[in-house]
Amino acid sequence: MRTSPALLGAVLLVAAAALAGAQNPNLESIVNDRYTRSHDYDLVHQRIVVRDFNWDSLSFTGSVTTSLVALRPNMDSVVLDAGALLGITRTAAVGGGALRTTRHGDTLVVFLARPAAFHDTVRFTIEYGGKVENGRGLTFIDERPHTPRQIWSQGEDHDNHYWFPTYDFPNDKMTWELEATVPSGFMAVSNGALASDTKDASGARTLRWREDRPSATYLVSLVVAPLAKIHDSWKNVPVDYYTYHSDSALAWRLFHVTPAMIDVYSRLTGVPYPWQKYAQTTVADFFGGMENVSATTLVDWLPDARAYQDRPWYQHILIPHELAHQWFGDYVTTTNWANMWLNEGFAEFMPGQYWREKLGAHIAEDYYLDEYRQFMQIDARRQMPLASLGSNNIYPKGALVIEMLHDYLGDQRFWAGIREYLTTHAFGNAVSDDLRQAFLDATGENLDWFWSEWVYGAGYPEFTVTSAYDATARRVTLVVRQTQRDTLKADSAGMRYVVPEVFRMPVTVRVGMLGGPDVVRTSWIRQREDTIVVDGVALTPAMIVFDDGNHVLKRLTFEQPTAQLATQLRRDPDLWNRSWVIQQLALRPADPLAQAALADAVTGSDYFLTRVEAASALGAFAPSAAVPPLTRALRDTSSQVRQAAVEALGRTGGAEAATLARKAWRDDSSYSVRAAALAALTRLDTAGRRALILEGLRTDSYRDAIQNAAIGAAVRSDDSSFVAPMQALVGEQQLPSFGLAAMAIRGSQRALDFLVSDLNDPRSYVRGWALTAIVQSLGPARGLPALRSIQPSLSHADTRAAVGRAIKQLEERSAPSGGQ
Ligand SMILES: [Zn+2]
Repeated sequence: MRTSPALLGAVLLVAAAALAGAQNPNLESIVNDRYTRSHDYDLVHQRIVVRDFNWDSLSFTGSVTTSLVALRPNMDSVVLDAGALLGITRTAAVGGGALRTTRHGDTLVVFLARPAAFHDTVRFTIEYGGKVENGRGLTFIDERPHTPRQIWSQGEDHDNHYWFPTYDFPNDKMTWELEATVPSGFMAVSNGALASDTKDASGARTLRWREDRPSATYLVSLVVAPLAKIHDSWKNVPVDYYTYHSDSALAWRLFHVTPAMIDVYSRLTGVPYPWQKYAQTTVADFFGGMENVSATTLVDWLPDARAYQDRPWYQHILIPHELAHQWFGDYVTTTNWANMWLNEGFAEFMPGQYWREKLGAHIAEDYYLDEYRQFMQIDARRQMPLASLGSNNIYPKGALVIEMLHDYLGDQRFWAGIREYLTTHAFGNAVSDDLRQAFLDATGENLDWFWSEWVYGAGYPEFTVTSAYDATARRVTLVVRQTQRDTLKADSAGMRYVVPEVFRMPVTVRVGMLGGPDVVRTSWIRQREDTIVVDGVALTPAMIVFDDGNHVLKRLTFEQPTAQLATQLRRDPDLWNRSWVIQQLALRPADPLAQAALADAVTGSDYFLTRVEAASALGAFAPSAAVPPLTRALRDTSSQVRQAAVEALGRTGGAEAATLARKAWRDDSSYSVRAAALAALTRLDTAGRRALILEGLRTDSYRDAIQNAAIGAAVRSDDSSFVAPMQALVGEQQLPSFGLAAMAIRGSQRALDFLVSDLNDPRSYVRGWALTAIVQSLGPARGLPALRSIQPSLSHADTRAAVGRAIKQLEERSAPSGGQ
């Protein structure tokens, strides 16, 4: 699964599940052993048949034939997960009579005609009238502009049982068939190979998909929509892209990277792509992407040609992330959710490897630097280990820890360990210790220390480094202190994580001199305070790099003279190190050496990200120092550099900055640069602000980057004359409704009136967006009175029901909370 950056925050708020009674636990044994669900059978195969989809009643007809093997003698009943809304009409043994069932909430018990013996195979069919709460298991979406009528499933973590009875936990793998009958003109995409595709006299189409390699039930997937199929391939494996017909011309450029990615992943892991086909299907209102086995589901944000200059997240991260799951998550699956980093950490790690293979070292450093920033933000909120139930940091920390392990072991030993892990657990499950064991088997090295610090431990080393040069002894001495503190408290369930007092790692120090070769020294950090001695430094150091190549995940404090930092910025090839140097220089806006170093980097650096960061840093410098290099940066071939430059000019201020930003708004070809120019100009040019915002509100761009910048500027302006133009946009996308809510919070009654009246809009999606904005933005204090006042005059039954639920939800939020 991968959430788009804008939505990431919401996911991170998901609270960690509680573990009852775990006082002072040994996390390692708990995580590996305790969270796995027990059951008394082995699920072998399910044949799932669905038809008669009704978008108004959110219903369908279903039947599921289950084959399983008893794992206890005298098994007289089978317990399955089945959503309470599924109305069971008949259950019968295959080739036998009807079977009695009972329901307990979302649990279904099927009583067998006679008890099964240990290892007996049991087969029965459940017929049911399917119904869902929209978004739980299945999401039904009605037609709206740019969006055809559609249905998509989402199983992870435990939602597939809301649309078909199954065993809904990852530790039991099965094969399956999925047969769907869909209206004329519709397609149904699912896992595995297409076994049949027929039409009846009415035009209704029945497609039968067969996944004959075992995987977990949360990966069973169904997308129903009118879709175009664009065919591609890798070796003999079909690689298909399914999009709306209106998007089909955009599909090839976006998705055709896939075969090359499959090729790189197959080669690196030593495991050729393990499934019968790979489909990627786009759907509406999706949170990002989901790695349903051999049939990934993705959000419908296909970039247009112009958007590619801004390096769309979709192609850079989302496509390679979901593809990586086909090995990590789908082929080898976490046994329980406490080890979910084995799925998500690897899926987040692999895209950096792909880009390195394709485009070299810098883009990989760029990729992991972005992960590092995310990691630091998340870790600052709460420090949790990778291996822990509900861990908040499995994506970026997972990627960074795996990359650190890769660095530590080197290519050959690392990929041998990965291959060992994947082949040992092929089509099966694994916990964190299985990965450690695979590296032990493949390399002979017991990495228990690494696991204990980075997998079961929380936090990261915070290094404070000081250096001294002794000219007589020709020696540089570094004192390295680890200053991280373990201040974590037990949570309400008694679970307490530990930040290691000491992280042990080899660290390389590089000392550069003017007119001599660098002196490089690698030594182990093993203590709270270590001393590293670098001999043979004949001349005064021009640069001292701690952790050359950035091999340790860390925070670094290392006071150095500006001249040393400037030399490092010029000479250090590593992007994390350069980024760290730029941060130090940004704190010295009065220092001419710092200005000169950043001005050099903003146009002279060999990789765009360093130029981006130098441009951003210059935003804090005086206009006389910042504007000339930023003017040059506006001519960069990278749109990200131009964007950073125009943002920096917005902070620098002055008439010249306004002129440059206006030119960028008028002439730049990049959506992101124009959006940044609009935001900057609304600060720099108050006289032209109103006309500019109105123009921005009407300007089309990929993912509404420009319109969104204009909505943000309109909200910040506190000018109520933007309320009507904002209201005029409410059918186009979701953000205008949130803009109205933000203006209502800032005191605009008119904005609130519009927002509330949108609950009677004839378009159901407008009503839905308005309600979401009211609930999420206004909160109980403002939202409750507004909803109560409109409730009697609501004209649509579905909205009346939704408003009723929202009122209840807001009332609960406003009541004093009883629990945690
Ligand atoms: Zn994922």
